[in-house]
Amino acid sequence: MSSKEYQYREVAVIGAGQAGLAISYYLKREGISHIVLERNTIASSWSDQRWDSFTLNTPNWMNLLPGEVLDENIDREAFMTKDEYVEKLQNYALRYALPIFENHNVERILRYKDNKKYEVWFSYGDEHTVVIVNQVVVASGAMSEYGNPGIAASIPKHIKQMNVAEYRNPAQVEGNVLIVGSGQSGVQLAEELIQREFSQKGNIYLATSPVARSPRRYRGKDMMEWLYLSGLMNQRTDQLTDRSLMKSVQPQVSGVGRYGHTVSLQSLSQAGVKHLGMLQIVDDRKIYFTDTVKQHIYTADKHSDMMKREVDGYIQAHRIAAPLDQDIDLADIPDSQYQADSGILQLEYDQIDTIIWAIGYHGNFTYIKISELLDEKQQPIHLNGKAPIDRFYYLGFPWLTMRKSGIIFGVKEDSERIFNEIKKELTKVSDGKELKSQ
Ligand SMILES: Cc1cc2nc3c(=O)[nH]c(=O)nc-3n(C[C@H](O)[C@H](O)[C@H](O)COP(=O)(O)OP(=O)(O)OC[C@H]3O[C@@H](n4cnc5c(N)ncnc54)[C@H](O)[C@@H]3O)c2cc1C
Repeated sequence: MSSKEYQYREVAVIGAGQAGLAISYYLKREGISHIVLERNTIASSWSDQRWDSFTLNTPNWMNLLPGEVLDENIDREAFMTKDEYVEKLQNYALRYALPIFENHNVERILRYKDNKKYEVWFSYGDEHTVVIVNQVVVASGAMSEYGNPGIAASIPKHIKQMNVAEYRNPAQVEGNVLIVGSGQSGVQLAEELIQREFSQKGNIYLATSPVARSPRRYRGKDMMEWLYLSGLMNQRTDQLTDRSLMKSVQPQVSGVGRYGHTVSLQSLSQAGVKHLGMLQIVDDRKIYFTDTVKQHIYTADKHSDMMKREVDGYIQAHRIAAPLDQDIDLADIPDSQYQADSGILQLEYDQIDTIIWAIGYHGNFTYIKISELLDEKQQPIHLNGKAPIDRFYYLGFPWLTMRKSGIIFGVKEDSERIFNEIKKELTKVSDGKELKSQ
């Protein structure tokens, strides 16, 4: 282990996902000295944590970073594959010559001895180095980490277990598969496995929970576009009356297919997926589930209907010509008669060969070693992306400032705002030595 000499910069950015790249774009354009430290490679949450056939859930017009305009040859309403998006982010970093240091893992951030600057310690291979900065932007991802629940350890070893972030393609799974979690990832996975004739080799079980559904298209447009036009995407966090909205997970929907498609629990059931309620407990023989599948279908149906009624209101108020019979969507039809497989309340271990945990993602901020910055759950405390201490910021979190903050569509506005804060605080630093390991 060796420790290098100090380096100096005005700003350190942690993470080279879209949020880190976006703020780096503004800093570079303004000539502000900075480094972007990335533990893996550019866009690694996309390249390393998504399955092979993953397609973005947001259409092309929503996936632009600062400085970008949609190429006129690109279908604005279509969806990119993850490989295309990763390549797009890599090209973005190259085009603007952003100072990104890959394989540089930030291990701790501390206050510097003058109590004004910050020490950002990072490792590169066996080397441990520190950069001293006046300002810090944490863009390390609110969804860049994953893990299986503690209960997974009690499940017999002969059952193969993996996290959805480790799943790549159907070749990895064998026999009867239990997918736990019916959020965006869980339902997309269930659909992939059932559609690829996997069902001939085994059953696909889906342990569901109350998750909202969005119709993919409605009255001639992608639903996201209606949400944008009606102002919902720009709904501000500080004006939110129902704060529980901030905890809701991404709705069930898919970007697979030319213009994506709706994916519902009832459409999955028709395709052959066997639904169960929420995974409750395990013992030495079985896994037990709640008898709540119908409620989960009802929750999704209700949410989809609510979204459509809001759009109807907007269309009517603005006298928009958008025929009701456009984009009739069978997968989105509420199914009040749904009887499903809610009879399955338990599965014996010998009924399952593979379990895929699709129970969500989270961020890890424990490398921030300044006590007043994290709450009791080790999550950042901030107001509109500003920490409760000077010159310390966050980017890329859901509801950072607006509904759209946690998706690609929101990163331009948020990063521009944080950049303006940085500019106000700009202080002169001696321009340290260039980092050697690039
Ligand atoms: C399954 C899934 C699908 C999604 N689909 C869409 C979609 O279709 N459209 C959309 O707009 N949004 C989508 N999102 C939401 C969001 O756009 C992504 O989560 C996106 O990756 C967030 O970008 P980010 O830059 O904030 O964080 P990330 O992309 O997660 O980037 C953070 C980076 O920080 C690095 N890092 C973390 N810790 C450290 C450290 N200690 N030191 C150095 N580097 C570190 C990570 O390696 C990572 O590269 C999806 C999210 C998930 C989980």
